[in-house]
Amino acid sequence: MSFLPEIQQIENKIQELGASARSEILAYSELGNLKFPIHKVSFGSLDPQAPVLGFVGGVHGLERIGAQVCLALMNSLAELAAWDKGLQRTLQDIRIFFIPTVNPVGIYRKTRCNPHGVDLMRNAPVEADAPQPWIGGHRFSRKLPWYRGELGADMEIESHALVQAVQKEISQSRLALTLDIHSGFGLQDQLWFPYAKTVQPFPDLHHAFSLKQLLDRTYPYHFYRFEPQAKNYTTHGDLWDYLYDQTPRSQSEQIYLPLCLEMGSWLWVKKNPLQIFKAEGPFNPLIGHRHKRTLRRHNTLMEFLIRAVSSPESWISASSEVQAQHRLAAQELWYGGV
Ligand SMILES: [Zn+2]
Repeated sequence: MSFLPEIQQIENKIQELGASARSEILAYSELGNLKFPIHKVSFGSLDPQAPVLGFVGGVHGLERIGAQVCLALMNSLAELAAWDKGLQRTLQDIRIFFIPTVNPVGIYRKTRCNPHGVDLMRNAPVEADAPQPWIGGHRFSRKLPWYRGELGADMEIESHALVQAVQKEISQSRLALTLDIHSGFGLQDQLWFPYAKTVQPFPDLHHAFSLKQLLDRTYPYHFYRFEPQAKNYTTHGDLWDYLYDQTPRSQSEQIYLPLCLEMGSWLWVKKNPLQIFKAEGPFNPLIGHRHKRTLRRHNTLMEFLIRAVSSPESWISASSEVQAQHRLAAQELWYGGV
């Protein structure tokens, strides 16, 4: 039986939590003798319409630190939920879920792709609106990175498990926000919102803008660059584009905002250039103190998102006039006033 410390930690935590959280095995990811479960752990309200906040990690196996940050956030939330009356009250109204290891075989084998050579973040049935370079997803060979999977094939087990689990959590929710944690791009921690498939603005642009405003006002010294993913690069097959487009948005009754945290791993390499020669080097903080610092670095972001989801009136305006103003300001900020 193969051993993955992150899975062991999740299973220990599930045991420890007992009835105070809900857990589920979404699927098993397998390759030869390797077989690992994909766990989901949920806290809080069972009301299907309750606001939802989800944290996801380990979609790209090589970006192991994403799974570890997700797990660290889950552990802190579990501890707080045991004693913090404020959070206990909040959890009566909202639901928080964690899927820390979407691609456990990839984590074990230190590969970006899943056991079948597929890049899960290129695997959804979504076509970019312009031709893409290799990095944007291709169908040439599973031996090359950024492979999307065969044309017309079902989504991979891991992608499918993630999509189904998120849809189940958010399908009737009034407000849902997810944070998928990655590393490997840029010198700065970035928060990306849709789309990945196009440089055109997505329908909820005004909400993304007002969330950014709230973050800037509440934590003016925060270190995140908050912008559309497509400002950095576009891709085919993005799972969050797919989930976003699949979510019903009838008369704006339901709001879903998928965010990706792209941790600026080039900084870790800059500070420790020799780590570039290790497979995991470009994507993970390998030195002890830097690793610990990364694990605690996003606690404030989690707290902020919990508060934003439980107090939506603080940033989601029902006024169509205010929404139009936000949309205009967002277009000026991110799209050159288009
Ligand atoms: Zn990634």
